[in-house]
Amino acid sequence: VKDIGKPERAVVTTCAYCGVGCTFRAEMRGEQLVRMIPWKDGKANHGHSCVKGRFAWGYAQHADRILSPMIRDAIDQPWREVSWEEALSYTARRLQELRERHGRNALGGITSSRCTNEETFLVQKLVRAGFGTNNVDTCARVCHSPTGYGLKTTFGTSAGTQDFDSVDDSDVILVIGANPTDAHPVFASRMKRRIRGKDGRPGARLIVIDPRRTDLVRSPHIAADLHLPLRPGTNVAVLTAMAHVIVIEGLADEEFIRARCDWEEYRHWADFVAIDRNSPEVLAEVTGVTPQDVRAAARLYATGGNAAIYYGLGVTEHSQGSSTVMAIANLAMATGNIGRRGVGVNPLRGQNNVQGACDMGSFPHELSGYRHVSDAATRALFEAEWGVPIDPEPGLRIPNMLDAAVEGAFKALYIQGEDILQSDPDTRHVAAGLAAMELVIVHDLFLNETANYAHVFLPGSTFLEKDGTFTNAERRIQRVRKVMEPRNGLADWEVTQELARAMGLGWNYTHPSQIMDEIARLTPTFSGVNYARLDAEGSLQWPVNAAAPDGSPIMHVDGFVRGKGRFVVTDYVPTDERTGPRFPLLLTTGRILSQYNVGAQTRRTANAMWHGEDVLEIHPTDAENRGLQDGDWVRLASRSGETTLRAKVTERVAPGVVYTTFHHPETQANVVTTDFSDWATNCPEYKVTAVQVSPSNGP
Ligand code: SF4
Repeated sequence: VKDIGKPERAVVTTCAYCGVGCTFRAEMRGEQLVRMIPWKDGKANHGHSCVKGRFAWGYAQHADRILSPMIRDAIDQPWREVSWEEALSYTARRLQELRERHGRNALGGITSSRCTNEETFLVQKLVRAGFGTNNVDTCARVCHSPTGYGLKTTFGTSAGTQDFDSVDDSDVILVIGANPTDAHPVFASRMKRRIRGKDGRPGARLIVIDPRRTDLVRSPHIAADLHLPLRPGTNVAVLTAMAHVIVIEGLADEEFIRARCDWEEYRHWADFVAIDRNSPEVLAEVTGVTPQDVRAAARLYATGGNAAIYYGLGVTEHSQGSSTVMAIANLAMATGNIGRRGVGVNPLRGQNNVQGACDMGSFPHELSGYRHVSDAATRALFEAEWGVPIDPEPGLRIPNMLDAAVEGAFKALYIQGEDILQSDPDTRHVAAGLAAMELVIVHDLFLNETANYAHVFLPGSTFLEKDGTFTNAERRIQRVRKVMEPRNGLADWEVTQELARAMGLGWNYTHPSQIMDEIARLTPTFSGVNYARLDAEGSLQWPVNAAAPDGSPIMHVDGFVRGKGRFVVTDYVPTDERTGPRFPLLLTTGRILSQYNVGAQTRRTANAMWHGEDVLEIHPTDAENRGLQDGDWVRLASRSGETTLRAKVTERVAPGVVYTTFHHPETQANVVTTDFSDWATNCPEYKVTAVQVSPSNGP
């Protein structure tokens, strides 16, 4: 055991891994971080943490960190280390040249859910005010963009409706397409405590809708009342069948609907879900879930008391991702499970600041606070503050930027804190798009896979090296505080500011608090947010404004943000990805507790816990049919590509379904995934890929 001694000072800050947003006390000796202690006053974690936040911060000191800016004329040339001044003036000059030659819409940027609200706000401001285009997007494109579309359409804003504490008042918890034990561990513990019950109070009943038998379905301490192991890609069918039961059996809360929702739209939706082809019996043919289980789940959700829905990427990363989000919202409105503690619709955000990145105007069609760029009054507000015109036309999404690059119309991309070559679907298309650009600027901690196609590398800073805020899955805005000086010399917000200045923009922020003040001036849901309040009160949950001066733990209490709640008919449409003789199995993907996304940080932390490999879970019957044993190497092939990994034979997956994680670059799981995507948002369909599995001798 290493004696770390007594700390000399401590800084309270926020974890930079998942969307729970745990508060920690970072203990320092000199300039060395020696310990991260979960902070008892943290409003999201109440003194708890998981292994990642507690122990996986060594990547900040890792030798792989790039600390000097680098440039090169072509991607087959070696990198050349340069000063910040040279890197930024070179980048600004190249951007301006390309804009003059090809027009402002040949440029774009990608913001990161890993960075602070202030940094994200500055990147979209640089793209809009400096490049002169709305070609800005964020990595939420590949995770929760359907949440944005679905909840805005039905409720009027793109955010979870509850705070985490609200789960203590739930009588029924429905978890669909989420594995919080691994992906949101601190909230999972909270949820499990409510499911177990306490002090004579019976526990909440639990419904899990998931193709895989996750830890929530059965573990040593809890068991789900119902597990609906649906075929991947059939979420909408299961939710529609549940709605059918609720309407046919008269379980809808018509008093709530008449008071709070558009009654005509409700009737239209109710007539649709009630037709015979939406019955659990008919839809069982596509979902694989027994009608009895669907009926039991519908009755429990509608009549079991306060019922809350929690969902994750197993809902959004589908060709019907936005439809699934709206189907969930329909169920909550139909049963009156919205607008008070213990109920609601709760997207479990994967990355620490997905909520914040979306809030800050990172989408090509929206300015901060989810206001469409076509709205003249909103644009006028920004134009007055920034002194430049804002384009009223939405810009390009990430996949469209790549398409346009391949076609020769898109030339330069600034990517902050995102490894799109590893995290986005159809790796070959991403590579082709990047290779076709004349200027790729990667702003990151490490030379990631995307940097293989970059001409400029701007070193990034970790969350330990900067001030700012993150917004967690419950809309809680929390302070990130600088624990140590940036090893690369500049925090990320300073890099973006210096690039803007090199392009002739007169930015002059001296602290991120001034950026938050600007956000508050321009964003009605943030108008009451400032650093003085955050420091005094610990956190604030938006909206924070004149109507909600203390913030909003629960949303849509007296009325929906859009006025009347809107029911949307969500017909089940099968994915175009089909199994067949060549690819008879369905692959779905997820995460494990000790790793984080593509592993850039966790794999660079010195502890064996953070290493290992991605494995392929396969049912014993499917393994036996292929002559496979636990631990064997297998070839995993799809219509898009193939990879090699080891088999884990387990009944966690049903026959016909296989499952893997995507933490290790050696596996390159996204080589296998398809280029199908959500009809409304282009969020990739990572969760359904037709594959074949066969024995292999290894990579
Ligand atoms: Fe960090 Fe999430 Fe773990 Fe909390 S639960 S310590 S926010 S990774």
